[in-house]
Amino acid sequence: MKQHHITIINIPAYGHVNPTLALVEKLCEKGHRVTYATTEEFAPAVQQAGARPLLYETTISVDPQQIKELMEKNETPLMFLKESLGILPQLEELYKDDQPDLIVYDFIALAGKLLADKLQVPAVRLCSSYAQNESFQMGTEEMLKQVKEAEAEFQAFLEQENLPAVSFEQLAIPEAFNIVFMPRSFQIKNETFDDRFCFIGPSLGKRSEQERLLLKEKGDRPLMLISLGTAFNAWPEFYQMCMEAFGGSEWHVIMSVGKSIEPDSLGDIPDNFTVRQRVPQLDVLTEADVFISHGGMNSTMEAMNEGVPLVVIPQMHEQELTAQRVEELGLGIYLPKEEVSVPRLQQAIGNIFSDKEIHSRVKDMQKDVKEAGGAEQGAAEIEAFMKKSVVPQ
Ligand code: UDP
Repeated sequence: MKQHHITIINIPAYGHVNPTLALVEKLCEKGHRVTYATTEEFAPAVQQAGARPLLYETTISVDPQQIKELMEKNETPLMFLKESLGILPQLEELYKDDQPDLIVYDFIALAGKLLADKLQVPAVRLCSSYAQNESFQMGTEEMLKQVKEAEAEFQAFLEQENLPAVSFEQLAIPEAFNIVFMPRSFQIKNETFDDRFCFIGPSLGKRSEQERLLLKEKGDRPLMLISLGTAFNAWPEFYQMCMEAFGGSEWHVIMSVGKSIEPDSLGDIPDNFTVRQRVPQLDVLTEADVFISHGGMNSTMEAMNEGVPLVVIPQMHEQELTAQRVEELGLGIYLPKEEVSVPRLQQAIGNIFSDKEIHSRVKDMQKDVKEAGGAEQGAAEIEAFMKKSVVPQ
């Protein structure tokens, strides 16, 4: 196949960038030239994967506290839209002398869709969370209502900035080809998704992480990983409850607390705990026996890839859906945030180990994950789509 210029457009968030990295590697291995619109923070990872980073200025806050406040006020959909519209002129400038043959964009990075429309280039949507279609939308009724109410404000913003008139609804319509980073069996209402959707499972590559030696401290003990991910993680009391629940126990615990919390600020750290702002999660999961997680889609899929059962403590709506899905499929336990306490944490871990069903269901899901094909499959499907679509051969 002729080599093409493929561009990835993404938002500056680990949960969205991480699953694209292995895909970039595979596309580069196939000889394509990949450029990647991102911010300075993610440029090294993107470059290491083999793409050329093209930098834009973002308006998105990466401060977990601020993200939490925006979520609570339900202002994130509008924030992402404004961001998309804000970076669109920057993208036009970046690509004006080097037009891509194909635009691949994360479902939140709608600037990718807008750019593809402007340049008349085919587009592929990446679903780094659940795929959405005419039968399944992720938001609660209340969220969808608030988004509708924000439509007028959004339209006024478009007019003021002299931008094309597009509605939220138009932007939510799936592309002709959509890649979903989970196996079909994990997708909610999976029977309603037609062949526009390709479920490749998690796209995992090697990540450049320091602290590979972290696992050495574990010895012969069973290993527990605790992490609330990279965005909704500013909850010091939770980490303290975990230390009280499992300090001095038979477990070795590796706990990631996020960049807004200093491990030392949490008080005395028990001897059987290793606490870091960030841990090499893929490495830790290869040895882990259980994962207490917020239910971010990447964390959930990474756990399934290694056959690790979950206790899910969701921090926002999408993660609540995942907590429910995990429990419904028998892959772990849903522990609502409001119910988290030292005894409830201990009980959840006890229940995971007394329930043999959970382990066999997790093994089945692990099989589905491996069979979905991952990044290799994703790159092959993208090539097949380019062949079928109007990309010049
Ligand atoms: N991650 C990591 N080390 C950490 C915390 C997170 O490597 O200490 C990675 C994790 O492996 C996953 C991503 O960051 O790939 C988090 O994405 P997820 O969708 O689980 O949650 P989010 O951070 O978007 O809430």
